[in-house]
Amino acid sequence: MDYELTETQEDIRNLARQVALRDIKPVREKHDADGTFPWDAVKKMAAADLYGVYLPEAYGGLGGGLMEQVLVVEELSRVCAGIALAFAATGLGSLPIMLLGNAEQRGKFIPDLAAGRKLAAFSITEPGAGSDATATKTTAKLDGEHYILNGVKSFVSNGEVADTYVVFASTNPGRGARGVSAFIVEKGTPGFGFGKKEHKMGIRANPTYELSFQNCRVPKKNLLYKEGYGLFTAQTTFDCSRPGIAAQALGIAQGALDETVAYIRQRKQFGQPISSFQAIQHMMADCATGIETSRALLYATARAIDKAMKPVYEKAIAENAIVYDVMQTMDVKRYTKESAMVKYYASDVAMKVTTDCVQMCGGIGFMADFPIEKFMRDAKITQIYEGTNQIQRNEVAAMMIKEAASAAKAETAAA
Ligand SMILES: Cc1cc2nc3c(=O)[nH]c(=O)nc-3n(C[C@H](O)[C@H](O)[C@H](O)COP(=O)(O)OP(=O)(O)OC[C@H]3O[C@@H](n4cnc5c(N)ncnc54)[C@H](O)[C@@H]3O)c2cc1C
Repeated sequence: MDYELTETQEDIRNLARQVALRDIKPVREKHDADGTFPWDAVKKMAAADLYGVYLPEAYGGLGGGLMEQVLVVEELSRVCAGIALAFAATGLGSLPIMLLGNAEQRGKFIPDLAAGRKLAAFSITEPGAGSDATATKTTAKLDGEHYILNGVKSFVSNGEVADTYVVFASTNPGRGARGVSAFIVEKGTPGFGFGKKEHKMGIRANPTYELSFQNCRVPKKNLLYKEGYGLFTAQTTFDCSRPGIAAQALGIAQGALDETVAYIRQRKQFGQPISSFQAIQHMMADCATGIETSRALLYATARAIDKAMKPVYEKAIAENAIVYDVMQTMDVKRYTKESAMVKYYASDVAMKVTTDCVQMCGGIGFMADFPIEKFMRDAKITQIYEGTNQIQRNEVAAMMIKEAASAAKAETAAA
């Protein structure tokens, strides 16, 4: 399918592909097996300027947007989603700073992330607050020019390797959802430490850590936006970040199918290539159709978000304003529904495609020294993080009900 990418987008995709094949493929098995972080590959991604493709030129980025970001995530994940997460999770940590941060915060933190000199992480989950972020127990109490953070956050991607953490904590526990606030916390801040490193099924090259805060004094100027806006910060971020999970899923599915087709063309049974059996061909066709449908929805969503958001970023940067505030004045369309749709659709496709790929390869597909089972293990997380696929479906349905109510109201007003 010709998705009419611009010349720059083609170049970015080709560059990401080159980095993935040259610097990631040779080391993916090792980092998956021993669960170590791929610092060398990260340095190569940074040297290729990939970390800045979606960030504004004003902060050292290349001035692209979500479309450029998803092209990179797709290409890197096509080879190894675990290593690709060093790039994608930094995107997730950068976004709330771009969206809700003031000009000073953007200027202080984004250039290092755009250059890949530092990595970022996003930490909302807690042992008792997963799908329900309103149950946040970590507290942040104002004390003069600092907030004092106490509590434990869990399951943080890029944990320990990142320098810049966006952390959600309650500034007003009595107010539930409206009591949660978001903070930028730098590694090395006294009282901020790392707890358990998780031992995982997939994306094993990326460290998933527990964070601990014990009387951690975070400068007041590191509060993102205003007290009580933490869950708005998270939702505004997810509206623009969930297509990134779809891109991981898409890359995983495409990578698994490419390697499967190469294998079943040459593997023979009953005197014929496996790919000549109709039962297998139907699986191949269903995999390819699911992948292409995911890609079409993903690119359409990314383009729609860029069309809505690029003028907002430009205005906010020119006026030293907060992007979220400019979004309100420009009455920007939010893509909550579409982002949730593409996240769950593409990740369900990835799980089905990678499972079918193992099946098409037979016993070798199950073996750790053959690349296919890793794609299946890596696919599973895309159905879980940034909101499980059940939560995405809840959000899609909630938006549909809201839209139907608005349409009914408008119809009544017009009658
Ligand atoms: C490898 C990994 C990396 C992660 N990285 C990060 C990170 O970088 N930052 C971060 O903050 N978090 C991260 N997470 C956390 C992740 O976002 C959560 O695990 C996820 O949101 C689900 O929360 P939970 O695990 O507590 O599941 P639970 O909320 O306990 O859900 C359990 C099950 O119940 C279902 N369920 C819950 N509520 C509902 C409902 N209302 N309707 C229908 N079904 C429901 C869920 O869909 C799920 O199937 C990561 C998790 C993993 C495993």
